[in-house]
Amino acid sequence: MTAETDTHFWAAERAAALDAADPLAPLRDRFLPAPGVVAYLDGNSLGRPVATTAARLEEFVRDSWGQRLIRGWTEPGPDGPWMNWPERVGDRIAAAALGAAPGQTVLADSTTVLLYKLARAAFDAAATAGSARRVIIAHADDFPTDRYVIEGIAAERGGEVRWIETGLADGVTPAQVADAAGPDTALVLLSHVAYRSGWLADAPAVTAAAHDAGAFVLLDLCHSAGSVELALDDWDVDLAVGCTYKFLNGGPGSPAFGYVRRGLHDVMRQPIQGWMGRLDPFTMGPGYIPAPGIRQVVSGTPPVLAAVPLLAALDLLDEAGISAVRAKSVALTEFVLELVDAWLAPHDVEVISPRDASRRGGHVTIRRAGFRQVVDALWDRGVLPDYREPDAIRIGPAPLSTSFTEVHDGLAVLRDLLDTSRS
Ligand SMILES: *Cc1c(COP(=O)(O)O)cnc(C)c1O
Repeated sequence: MTAETDTHFWAAERAAALDAADPLAPLRDRFLPAPGVVAYLDGNSLGRPVATTAARLEEFVRDSWGQRLIRGWTEPGPDGPWMNWPERVGDRIAAAALGAAPGQTVLADSTTVLLYKLARAAFDAAATAGSARRVIIAHADDFPTDRYVIEGIAAERGGEVRWIETGLADGVTPAQVADAAGPDTALVLLSHVAYRSGWLADAPAVTAAAHDAGAFVLLDLCHSAGSVELALDDWDVDLAVGCTYKFLNGGPGSPAFGYVRRGLHDVMRQPIQGWMGRLDPFTMGPGYIPAPGIRQVVSGTPPVLAAVPLLAALDLLDEAGISAVRAKSVALTEFVLELVDAWLAPHDVEVISPRDASRRGGHVTIRRAGFRQVVDALWDRGVLPDYREPDAIRIGPAPLSTSFTEVHDGLAVLRDLLDTSRS
């Protein structure tokens, strides 16, 4: 046996052993199969559907929408009233994934829109209370929509964005936040898991640093919810938003969630005052009076139909438990790193994610010149990671739906492609 075939054999054996020891392995069969897909490595961008999703949608259309009709909005029933879904589904996300007590989370809008609503609410609350507070601190390499939204708020409200710069493989540290924040700071916005590098921020320490400066904290949880353990209440986080179509498997374009710490419900006002966030909306009365509690974050009609697939996925997450999900996620990304080191490093592939598992979220990013074309070849062969500038492939194995053998098989295809391109 050559050294090379020896490595190949070792890796396949190891994947099989990891699968055999995986307590979450049986849950993989609860997802819809995708024939022809060798390895789905993009759970951080779009989670797979739970197999019961189509039946649950059909049942909702047939029995709920179809029979209850307009009564569904307000009359109690097995799934109603629909009017309460923002809070009901919000509480389910909070319990399954956020470490947050009920009454502080809603399902609504898209992440972009909720981010605008909550960031502007925080900016206005800080500017009013502290008068001189007009700076929003954010990561220069944050996800584009986050950057654009706060640039817009700064322009609209006469504020200013102060960017924190980091290396490609890193993320924002509590020390950087402590250095950047001061008496002029209204808000610190941070992605808990950085979309490119996968850096997992020290959320409690960042929150403490922002609070020491008298600023609010807004966490973007798009890449954390359903992947890493969160304790929003214990960490004293002020606000959070996140999407439900990544590790929460809610489906393409499923609604976002927003969290506002209970103590801020009477302090902050979000800017899109719609009828669904008003006290007693059906009185159709004059003037906007915010509904009490978290409900005021809602603006328009709740996205009920679009939330049905998410309910199936949350059942599965409840069954698995987020701590088991995180444990498997760490094991999966460790295995990715082992294979990258053994197979891809000789091809000048560079890892731009943290090596320290406690600082790494649910995906691993690798980089090499010409990866753009390689991704096309991978997709042709049924291996589906995603691509991010510059020259980076993100490998995001969703713990509930991905086996170690799948990771192995996907990376073996990448290895073979690089082997061929060299010879
Ligand atoms: C995926 C993602 C978004 C997506 O926002 P949408 O409004 O759902 O398009 C926003 N921020 C971060 C950090 C993300 O990873």
